[in-house]
Formats: sequence, structure tokens, C-alpha cells
Amino acid sequence: MSVRTPYTIKGDTGDWELVMGLEVHAQVASNAKLFSGAATNFGADPNCNVSLVDAAMPGMLPVINRFCVEQAIRTGLGLKAQINTYSRFDRKNYFYPDLPQGYQISQFAHPIVGEGEIEVDVEPAHGGEAYTFPCRIERLHLEQDAGKSIHDMDPNATYVDLNRSGVALMEIVSMPDIRTPAEAASYVKKLRAIVIALGTCDGDMEKGNLRADVNVSVCRPGQYEKFRATGDFSHLGTRCELKNMNSFRFIQQAIEYEARRQIEIIETGGKVDQETRLFDPVKGETRSMRSKEDAHDYRYFPDPDLLPLEVEQAWIEEIRKTLPELPDEKRGRFEADYGLSRYDAGVLTAEADKAAYFEEVAKGRDAKLAANWVTQELFGYLNKEGLELSDSPISAADLGGLIGLISDGTISGKIAKDVFARMIAGEGKPADIVEKQGLKQVTDTGAIEKVVDEIIAANPEQAEKVKDKPQTLGWFVGQVMKASGGKANPKAVNDILKAKLGI
Ligand code: ADP
Ligand code: MG
Repeated sequence: MSVRTPYTIKGDTGDWELVMGLEVHAQVASNAKLFSGAATNFGADPNCNVSLVDAAMPGMLPVINRFCVEQAIRTGLGLKAQINTYSRFDRKNYFYPDLPQGYQISQFAHPIVGEGEIEVDVEPAHGGEAYTFPCRIERLHLEQDAGKSIHDMDPNATYVDLNRSGVALMEIVSMPDIRTPAEAASYVKKLRAIVIALGTCDGDMEKGNLRADVNVSVCRPGQYEKFRATGDFSHLGTRCELKNMNSFRFIQQAIEYEARRQIEIIETGGKVDQETRLFDPVKGETRSMRSKEDAHDYRYFPDPDLLPLEVEQAWIEEIRKTLPELPDEKRGRFEADYGLSRYDAGVLTAEADKAAYFEEVAKGRDAKLAANWVTQELFGYLNKEGLELSDSPISAADLGGLIGLISDGTISGKIAKDVFARMIAGEGKPADIVEKQGLKQVTDTGAIEKVVDEIIAANPEQAEKVKDKPQTLGWFVGQVMKASGGKANPKAVNDILKAKLGI
């Protein structure tokens, strides 16, 4: 596996490097909100999933949802992080029309989950070999989501939908260990795979179930290493926060734009302002949303309506026992049990449904062949068509059937591609297609000999030449394969041709 190489951007005054830390908001997969019993289902009519607590009616009291706490602990364990038996809810005060309380209940000084670490698998966007790097997690805390202001339904009015108000979020904060745009996207991918495997968040980015704030700064080569050696953030540049990114592609585009913007400011003698920016995918630019508040602007204080959260170690241990196989463990098993490369194992275990599909295809079959067909043919087709695995026109059982036909010599790999295309077109099961279309490989040497004889007889000159130039045998193989409609067994064709041509 290749090593991580520095990512440098050439400026007018020399080289620059990137530093990023991400804050990911993952919505807890819970039917009820963090402090009320209101429902959380997506797409409900506006303001229908709102309890008196969520609407912040005077005198209402929040009641902590035990299930949400359990999911936060579960996620912390999945991130190999410290679980804090003592944590506390604080009020983060700010005014916004979609925040009727006038404050968000969050965890500031005492989060439920402390430091952890995840392995991030990176496939560089601009070529280069895949590699893995460790990204430190600073913390995970529980907090409420806000409602939504809707500005585009009416030219003269803004509407407020409080369905999302009070929904439980896990904010997962990374250390600034991320150094390239591809690493940032890969970090989110890995985090998403982990929470999906744990079942603690649906990870549906289009629905905003998982969204990332990307903090970007630039510095001169060597500065980051000084930061790592001392832990002193002053070695790094001033960061800007790119808010609410929910697509892997936009994350990378936004970072590239933002890095160049900051470099230009510094190189022309300016100073980067710490601010929150939004990415405009149409223009491919980031623009300022607001100057970044510091913690003291929010007047955090312990929420007097809620007691500190104390969880028992025994409960944490019980939750630990129910953890499923996580993506990294699954990848290790795929490498060991199926003999797959780290790369293929990584592709297949990046998402739980892909791994399950592969395991069904490979059951009792040639696993490497199965991995090739799943990752290249099937995923290639799905990608091209923009389809999800759940929309696949080919079931795992049928793809397995096709691989069985290749392995037992019924069809060649080449014919299998034709059968695959017919399966996609809905022509049925692989064995039936082979039968109906007469695609069985011809291993009957008598039949192959007949074709070989005819072709040699029709091409006496070529047959003479091949004796001196054995490399032209391929031409004969091609002719025989063509005459047999691709059905002749290639090994038998080669053997018979060599015997008859005397080479
Ligand atoms: P806030 O909520 O105020 O944005 P957090 O502590 O929740 O602050 O998150 C700050 C994020 O910014 C972390 O992911 C951290 O790693 C990252 N970060 C801090 N300093 C820098 C920097 N100089 N460059 C890039 N990222 C940074
Ligand atoms: Mg934050």
C-alpha cells in the first residue's frame, strides 16, 4: 500500500498545504425526538410532528430520550472512543425564527463521547494509489436540531416548519487531521459506513440525515508538523467553515475553491477572516454567510431543566456486546476468508448492503471471480445508470448462478458478458438464457475439429506462414471463435489448431 504524500498547492509566493477538521451532524435513527415524544418521520406535512416541547410553549419541560442516548454511546463505541459516564446538557443561546426556544440544547463542556479514532480509506481523485490514514475524533455530543425556515414558497413571506425542531443529532467533531479534498470526502464516507453499520443513523445525505461542516485552512509546508508535535493550533492558518455539505463531490469542489481563495487573500497581503461560508454548487464558489461566532457569544450555561446525564458502566458494556461487525472488521474478514485484495475488500465492505450482496453471490463459489463480477460488471453498470444496489435488475442468486456457469465450463467469460446483458434486459435466469440462446460452450472436439479443418483449408497461405511465425496463431483462434459464434472452448481451439498446423 502506498503512503500518504503531501498535497501542495503552488501559489505565487511558494507552496501551500491544506488542513481540515470536520464537524458531521448525524441524525439519530430514532422514531421520537431527543426531548419529546413527537415523531421524526421524513416528509410529514409541515408542523405535524411538533409537540408542545418542540414548539417551546412556556413552562414545557424536556425529558431525555433513553434510546437516543443509547445510540450516541453505540456510535462512540463504533468510533473506538472514550464514553463519558458523566455528561451534561447546556443551552447554546441564539435567536432564529426556526428556533422557538431561543436556545439550542447541546453538550458543550461535557460531551457524552470523548476522543476516538477511525481509519479512513482514500482513493485519490487525481490518480495515485489508494491508502489509509488514521483520523482522530475529538468528541461526539448530543444536541437538538432546529426547525426549517422556508423562503421560496411565497415571494413576500417566510414560513417556518418545526417538524425537525428537537430531532436528536450526534455532532461528531474530528481533529484537524485531514489534508486533501479526497481525504475529506473519504472521511465522511467512512463515518457514514460506520453509523449505517451500527444502525444509529440512516446516513441518507440527500434527506440531510448526515451533513458535514468542513473547516478549511491553509499553511506553509512544515507548519502542520509543528502543530502535531506541540498541539498548538497557532501554527495553523485561520479556518473558514463550509456549512452543511451533503454531497461528496461538492465537499471536494468547495475545498478546492476555498483553499485557492484563502491563498490569494494571504498572497495579496490580506488576512483570512474566520467565518462561516456556503458553497454554491451552480457557481462552484463559496460565499460568506456570517462571521464566525466564538463560544462566548452563545452564553453557554448548564440547562437548568435537565439533570446531568450519568450512565452506568454496566450499561455501556451491555451495549458493547451488541455491536455488529464494523466495516474495518468486515474488510479484514473478506481479505482473509475470500482471499480478496485490500482494495476489493474495501469496495465491497464500504456499504453493508453491498457486502451482503457479495456474500450471497460468493457463497460456495470462486470468491475472486465473484468479486470481479460484482465490483466491475454489476457496480459498473449501476454506476453508469445512476442506480442503487437496491434497484439492481439482477439478484445476488442469479449473478451467483452466472458465475457457477463460468466456473463449471458451461460458458466462457466472454459469453457470460452477453448473458449478463440479457439478464439486465430482463430475459430471465442465466441457465435459461444459455439454454434458449444455445450459448453453451462447445467442448465437443469433433465439432471444433470440423471448423478448424474448414478454416485451414480456406487459408492455405496463412497456414504456411504460421509455421515460421507462431504468433500469428491468434488470427486462426479468432477465426474459429467467430465461426463458432464465440461458443468454442478457447483452450480446446488452441490445442486442436496447434496439432493440425504442426506448431
Ligand atoms: P465550532 O463549533 O465553533 O465550529 P468545533 O470545536 O465544534 O468548533 O469544531 C471546530 C472544527 O474545526 C474541528 O473539526 C477542528 O478540528 C477544526 N479546526 C480547528 N482549527 C482548524 C484549523 N486551523 N484549520 C482547519 N480546521 C480546524
Ligand atoms: Mg461545532
